[in-house]
Amino acid sequence: MIDLIDVSFQYGNGTEALHDINLRINNGEFAFIVGSSGAGKSSILKLLLRETLATSGQVIVNGFDLNRLKPSQVPKFRRSIGVVFQDFRLIPDMTVYENVAFSLRVTDRPVKEIRRRVPEMLELMNLKHKARQHPYELSGGEQQRVALARALVNDPPLIIADEPTGNIDPEFSYEIVELLQRINREHKTTLLMVTHEHEMVKYFGGRTVNIEQGNIVFDDYIVGSKDEESR
Ligand code: ADP
Repeated sequence: MIDLIDVSFQYGNGTEALHDINLRINNGEFAFIVGSSGAGKSSILKLLLRETLATSGQVIVNGFDLNRLKPSQVPKFRRSIGVVFQDFRLIPDMTVYENVAFSLRVTDRPVKEIRRRVPEMLELMNLKHKARQHPYELSGGEQQRVALARALVNDPPLIIADEPTGNIDPEFSYEIVELLQRINREHKTTLLMVTHEHEMVKYFGGRTVNIEQGNIVFDDYIVGSKDEESR
């Protein structure tokens, strides 16, 4: 669960990037955070990942109160979130298989578990045939699917996707969002997707949090045009 209570955030130069934000995302929800450039999306993400601390207010993520988190607890907290980035951040000299396995190796999981989980994830993301390839041999959409497999393989309660379709051809962008929705549905993973692509959000619909100039200007469920078409 994510709970932001009366959260404000100012940069060192005095810019108030977030103003008195209140936002709760319950376990199992799928939510879009949408806003134009400069709205405050990256600032919210930095707070949620504890890359920075709120100037005032409370930020609670997966039961961790981030303003009070001891430095020694930070690695445990970070492992409770799977993060997917706009630029994929795969390790270039590792194969697809190794990129996903690495995420389990760093937490010292048994070899048996790695041999079982990695193929499962690759199958789920329809990447089994790419297991021995390197990231540079894949399309943007395929690379993002590897990043999704890597985020999901530890079975985190929360996945945060930061502009996951930003570097993908539009025709494959929708496929990535559909995969995120599937992960949310089938694995009960709470999913937060941050994007500036308003049109995409209108197409899918669902919980939509619109942030502009550091304020939440809309937070409600919208019917996606994809569902309207099929009525
Ligand atoms: P978004 O991710 O939606 O584009 P940001 O969270 O990056 O928006 O920015 C919110 C506001 O904070 C903007 O006014 C931006 O100019 C400002 N800002 C972002 N980063 C910094 C920084 N490092 N120092 C000062 N101001 C910043």
